[in-house]
Amino acid sequence: MTELIKELKKMDLGKILTDVSLKEYTTYKVGGIARVMVFPKNIDCLVMLIKKLKANHIQYMVLGNGSNVLFSDSVYDGVVIKLDEFDKIEFEENKVTCGAGASLMKVASQSVRRGLTGLEFATGIPGSIGGAIYMNAGAYKSDMGYVVSKVKVLTPKMTVITMVNRELNFHYRTSFLKQHKDYICLEATLQLKKGNKEEIEQLVQDRKKRRLESQPLEYPSAGSVFRNPKDLFAGKLIEDLGYKGLTKGGAKVSEKHANFIINYHDAKASDIKELIEFIKQVVKENYGIDLVVEQEFINWE
Ligand SMILES: Cc1cc2nc3c(=O)[nH]c(=O)nc-3n(C[C@H](O)[C@H](O)[C@H](O)COP(=O)(O)OP(=O)(O)OC[C@H]3O[C@@H](n4cnc5c(N)ncnc54)[C@H](O)[C@@H]3O)c2cc1C
Repeated sequence: MTELIKELKKMDLGKILTDVSLKEYTTYKVGGIARVMVFPKNIDCLVMLIKKLKANHIQYMVLGNGSNVLFSDSVYDGVVIKLDEFDKIEFEENKVTCGAGASLMKVASQSVRRGLTGLEFATGIPGSIGGAIYMNAGAYKSDMGYVVSKVKVLTPKMTVITMVNRELNFHYRTSFLKQHKDYICLEATLQLKKGNKEEIEQLVQDRKKRRLESQPLEYPSAGSVFRNPKDLFAGKLIEDLGYKGLTKGGAKVSEKHANFIINYHDAKASDIKELIEFIKQVVKENYGIDLVVEQEFINWE
């Protein structure tokens, strides 16, 4: 790896960090060390980087804002790619084109300020555009699938193609990108509509208030842990079993919202994982329901 890092540095691909604590790059604020983190300057640098990593059989992954992942406490012996330089946000009438590394909340709040409707649901989702499209992030009966018109992606063959909405297979918390992990989202164009600015701002304020009241935003977390089973709420099932406030090490089932696990006191990733597994098991035993974890486990055995 040391030799590879030297070679990567010579290639002038963008900022390169070594032995990076993943706590700094995930909203759970847990995780081990990533051997290397690269911030490619542009698409050409990203392509050169991936070709080099493939040729050297080095594992890699793209990390967005780290708000839907649980890295293990172990060393990630590979390269974490961050697309922070892909951060453009360009409005043209009712359309916005944004880089995969742009903040979804920023795009949503700029849209609101322009009186554009369609992204109100996203003003409280702390992901990147790339991560949001991958997960088909959503709330309040809306999601990215409603607003994405096309996405520029890098294919496993290192070609850049444009995929339109119907090719992206958006469904509840999934998309083509999640189903094809070797594709990378580079840029997205979102189609919004002109709306009434005051009404949009009011809606966003009401929802912000609701989130603050119902979610433990004062603690590190990665949002909802489990998907809601059909016609049910995962949080309600957990709450009814009396597990609000259950702790394991520094991790806790939130007292405010039972579908959130919070890092309330210097938790290890393994504390969070054990709580998730325990909840899954008791929900299965008591209700016969297999809860599906919404968050992604990375670098676990
Ligand atoms: C307080 C809080 C509230 C939340 N509320 C919601 C909510 O209401 N609704 C909701 O849906 N989610 C919610 N989330 C979860 C999370 O914010 C979203 O799922 C978000 O879309 C994840 O984006 P990210 O950039 O952080 O992705 P990451 O966590 O960084 O990555 C998630 C996955 O996406 C992949 N990925 C990231 N970027 C790319 C790319 N450019 N190309 C290909 N793959 C990529 C990663 O490899 C990884 O597999 C919440 C999280 C928190 C902390």
